Amino acid sequence: MKQLSILGSTGSIGVSTLEIVAANPQRFRVVALTAGKNLELFARQIRQFSPRIAAVASPEDIPQLKDMCTGLDVEILGGVEGLIAAATAQESDMVVAAIVGAAGLVPTAAAIRAGKDIALANKETLVTAGRLFMEMVSRYGVKLYPVDSEHSAVFQSIEGHRSQDISKIILTASGGPFRNTPVEQRAQRTMRDALNHPNWSMGRKITIDSATMMNKGLEVLEARWLFDAPVEKIEVNIHPQSIIHSMVEYVDGCVIAQLGTPDMKAPIAYALSYPARIATGVMPLDLTTFSGLTFFKPDLDKFRCLALAYRAINDGESMPAVMNAANEIAVAAFLNGEIGFLQIAEVIERTMDAHQVHDLKSIDEVLQADSWGRRTAKSIYGGLNN
Ligand code: NAD
Ligand code: MG
Repeated sequence: MKQLSILGSTGSIGVSTLEIVAANPQRFRVVALTAGKNLELFARQIRQFSPRIAAVASPEDIPQLKDMCTGLDVEILGGVEGLIAAATAQESDMVVAAIVGAAGLVPTAAAIRAGKDIALANKETLVTAGRLFMEMVSRYGVKLYPVDSEHSAVFQSIEGHRSQDISKIILTASGGPFRNTPVEQRAQRTMRDALNHPNWSMGRKITIDSATMMNKGLEVLEARWLFDAPVEKIEVNIHPQSIIHSMVEYVDGCVIAQLGTPDMKAPIAYALSYPARIATGVMPLDLTTFSGLTFFKPDLDKFRCLALAYRAINDGESMPAVMNAANEIAVAAFLNGEIGFLQIAEVIERTMDAHQVHDLKSIDEVLQADSWGRRTAKSIYGGLNN
């Protein structure tokens, strides 16, 4: 029986994780859940999964959640301390890190310090603080399993191989809904168009990141830290069908790929049950139904955000945290209808231009770089339309 703390249980990854738990009651038990704003769904989850601890992001939401959970044997907490209590619950063996954005940083760091194994969906932690996180993972001797489908694919494709034999990691990308949209037409693309992902059903922020391809930039950084691979060895291929989830090329010219129906339940389940494989309900693949699998290189002039991510990787240290913060602000502004689609890249680029790269020695310093990036991006987009 594996005991789980699920951070971000009301999100797309959180809900899929709980579906796997519900289908495998003999394998998993929920110890703690956390959520941001969706209290209705959160209360239903608390009722169904009986966690010992339930924490909401905002302490002001505690009274309402307590009301909704009257009669249930659950400790309701809130704020960062609540999230940390959920992440470090004494009896939990594994923490599913599925909060979106840099908000996941502090609770995930606390889980590692408490010696918990991590199933990592929250890629922003590795983007902003990759080196510090990987140092902590090794210092505290915890296991870190990727949930992101590409990284799960790489993880599955490197098993049993020596890292020195890897010549290339090839991350696949769907290219998102605007893969074939000419740049001049992208400016008119609305939030609805951008949220209409062709292959994957995901939370709103990552869906916009997929449309800009910032998601793939974040994933290059994630792969760089997870697999200790120099960025020159990480390649991105656009693969519109999203059937091959990523590949690893070896020095002998052999390429090992992982394939499957695009459904996050498969990589989530593998992170939860490794090395066992468990039933997920994911439709098996029938390759005879595909007319072809295609691959091409991304156009960095068209996908400015991907180019900016490469620039942040090259600058290193504080720049990825600043880029990530600016991206979170710009995506939220786009989702609020405050800026247009192409202005997302503009806000990020101008924030990066204004930043002086400096070393990051602690999670606190990462959080400071994150705050600086948020403040700067807000003032930049505030000035855009004036
Ligand atoms: P989502 O928006 O659907 O859910 C996010 C969860 O985090 C929710 O429970 C929300 O309430 C909570 N949350 C949001 N802001 C918070 C805050 N400030 N403090 C505490 N909790 C907060 O997002 P998602 O699509 O499930 O993605 C979660 C993470 O997993 C992201 O980092 C994303 O990049 C990554 N990921 C998602 C997918 C996917 O298919 N959805 C695939 C790969 C990686
Ligand atoms: Mg992914």
